[in-house]
Amino acid sequence: MLLKTDIKELSKYEFIVWLKSREIKPYRAGQVLKWIYLRQADTFDVMTDIKKEIRNRLSQHFIIHRLEKARIETSQDGSKKYLFKLCDGKYVESVLIPEKDHYTLCISSQVGCAQGCRFCLTGQGGFSRNLTKGEIIAQVRDVAADIGGQKRFSNIVMMGMGEPLANYSNVVEAIHVITEKDTGLGFSSRRVTVSTSGFVPKISDLGHETAVNLAVSLNATENKTRDMLMPINRKYPIEQLIKACENYPLMPRRKITVEYILIKGINDSEQDARRLAKLLRPIRAKINLIPFNSYEKSQFQRPEESVIQRFKDILTKTNYTAIVRYSKGQDICAACGQLRANMMPDSKSPCTTL
Ligand code: SAH
Ligand code: SF4
Repeated sequence: MLLKTDIKELSKYEFIVWLKSREIKPYRAGQVLKWIYLRQADTFDVMTDIKKEIRNRLSQHFIIHRLEKARIETSQDGSKKYLFKLCDGKYVESVLIPEKDHYTLCISSQVGCAQGCRFCLTGQGGFSRNLTKGEIIAQVRDVAADIGGQKRFSNIVMMGMGEPLANYSNVVEAIHVITEKDTGLGFSSRRVTVSTSGFVPKISDLGHETAVNLAVSLNATENKTRDMLMPINRKYPIEQLIKACENYPLMPRRKITVEYILIKGINDSEQDARRLAKLLRPIRAKINLIPFNSYEKSQFQRPEESVIQRFKDILTKTNYTAIVRYSKGQDICAACGQLRANMMPDSKSPCTTL
């Protein structure tokens, strides 16, 4: 049996090479890709402006794959969590989050995560594998189809399961398709954000090869604390991470988002707030403070509301834009750090509703 390839795994260039080798004109690539990404075609048969003979040859070699939706859960606050089953039986999650006037889609880059951050349920579950380029694109394409078109959401954040920069080439190739205007999904790269735990060697590459926004999960102001919370810090300590941010080729008027989880008694002191303001001086940054989201057996706690506000006020007084981001979807275990798609689709959520 001939195993067919998901056409989304090919770059436009690879597809053109494939077409040329079969003496099919290269402009057909654009036609096919438009059908797939702009018109959400599921079969080559519907591509009526392409000769039947070419359509037949395409369907002999390729499929236009959709991810299997194993479970969709909706939170009381309107967030929607998709559990997708992949071809090899593994699971991955994406979360659609309602904002004031638009939706943000949070997508995953890996099945699990190898970084093992102590506060993150995904990290506690270990690493399984990288997502392919096609699987990353499919999360966007399939959720758009599910909610009646991609116009319904404009922002994409790669803040789901996994460390995107540890799956660099698949992530960057997927971003190219997601942001390609004519023959891709056409999202503005201004509205796409990649979040990293501090995978320093790839930060500059990301800035040079894409025009997306960078978010960095800093989460501590001293190496001792960050070493304990995020093992990646032992390899790329805070100073190296700040330097990489300083050198990131930021577009005019844009800022790097610095994410800082507030964990009771660990990184939430007034001294931490002041150190954070000082650390970020060399960078054009805005700060997202994320009160810790708990889950079953998590060893940390969220600080009191007054502590969160005091931390924020110190940053605001030093002229930073600091926003407290209360994660949505906690009742369905869809908040930051709560994704753990290696659960069976019908198993009980390990998250505590706050
Ligand atoms: N691996 C990347 C992207 C996925 S994690 C990264 O670490 O940046 C997305 C965000 O969720 C990160 O900012 C991370 O610090 C945050 N996060 C992880 N666990 C959390 C938890 N239990 N509560 C709140 N935020 C958490
Ligand atoms: Fe991985 Fe990010 Fe979770 Fe750390 S916070 S374990 S890098 S997903």
